[in-house]
Amino acid sequence: MEKPEQQNIELDELSKARQELSTLFEISNAMHKTLDLEQILFIILTGVTSHSGLGFNRAMLLLLDSQGKYLEGMIGIGPDNGEEAKRIWSLIDEQKMDLDGLVDSYSFSRQLLNNSRFFNQVKGLKIPVKEPEGGILAKAFCDGMPFHIKKENFGSFPGDPLLAIFTSDEFVVVPLKAKDISIGLIVADNIFTRRSITKDDIRILMTFANQAGMAIENSQLYEKAVVRAHKDSLTDLWNHGYFQFFFEDKLRHAKNHVSYLSIIMVDIDNFKNYNDTWGHQKGDEILAKISKVIVDSSRKVDCVCRYGGEEFAIVLPNATKKDASIIAGRIRANIEQYHFIPEPGHPEQRITVSLGVASFPEDGNNKDELIRAADSALYEAKRTGKNKVCTAYIKS
Ligand code: GH3
Ligand code: MG
Ligand code: MG
Repeated sequence: MEKPEQQNIELDELSKARQELSTLFEISNAMHKTLDLEQILFIILTGVTSHSGLGFNRAMLLLLDSQGKYLEGMIGIGPDNGEEAKRIWSLIDEQKMDLDGLVDSYSFSRQLLNNSRFFNQVKGLKIPVKEPEGGILAKAFCDGMPFHIKKENFGSFPGDPLLAIFTSDEFVVVPLKAKDISIGLIVADNIFTRRSITKDDIRILMTFANQAGMAIENSQLYEKAVVRAHKDSLTDLWNHGYFQFFFEDKLRHAKNHVSYLSIIMVDIDNFKNYNDTWGHQKGDEILAKISKVIVDSSRKVDCVCRYGGEEFAIVLPNATKKDASIIAGRIRANIEQYHFIPEPGHPEQRITVSLGVASFPEDGNNKDELIRAADSALYEAKRTGKNKVCTAYIKS
């Protein structure tokens, strides 16, 4: 016969395990409601920090960048000071907010996050994955193991950027894994309640981090698939469908914010001759090279698209006609100066383009009017000698 105390301990453990399972289940359900990476990261850290979740005071999440060189701070959730902590926790208790309620408050919380000192400290983090430069974070990431750091070990990591943010007596770093490969880290502490971090806390955080890693990877794969579906495979530019979407979206934004928007249409001059001389495959190579020159000559915010065939369309948010004309001029000059060699040993070929510029609001009030205006300007450039930029003019 077991002693009564023994039975009690076992019952306690059973109810704790049940609670853990239900928490993991709830967070996992919430994560699968969306594929939006930002929202998923928010749900993950809400799960780590809320009372109804794992109950840490603060947590931050870093992800490996696409080059695999740096761990970048993505999100940090936690009050900036003890007063704020008490206020938030009592508010959550008063409103009897459960995990679902917290997750649903995403858009509201997103605004609060922007003003949080902790969040902004985390967003600024860019840690090399290499040891020893990357300190504690690089070590935890490379080992792929949880790392429980206590004050007495801080001396082993002098100048570690993490210790400037995590100033509590102890904290825990766990790797986020997808199919056994580390893709990032979660760091958590109890800076305000000073509750010590137990082995059980770390174990459940690890289990959770594995689920979170899978949700993050799914969302990243989805984002990649969406991008691929909107890209032109020959030129790696945005395709016609994305051009229509982006243009419409930015036009709406320009109207709502009483701002500017311009488009540039580009057409290669005498391209048929080039194809006839060198063949279609060499023509395709030129299309890819010209695309790169156009992207390099535009601003980062501009959306460079393959409109169709050997025609390109560029949407330039917040650009006046003057801004867009300068960029169009730069594209024209850079292509004219680019030396294309169709075959090794053959002479260089000069390729030129003609461009038409139209702008909101002066040249049209909707997408079709603006495209027509830019097309007419392009036609004018062709008609008056090619290798030039023409801007739409207001017909009187
Ligand atoms: P213009 O100066 O008046 O523009 O003369 P153009 O010969 O460039 O005439 P147009 O703009 O009508 O160009 C159409 C030609 O572009 C037909 C075709 O040979 C070429 N072209 C269109 N799409 C592609 C493509 O995907 N690959 C290749 N290699 N050539 C293409
Ligand atoms: Mg054409
Ligand atoms: Mg042409």
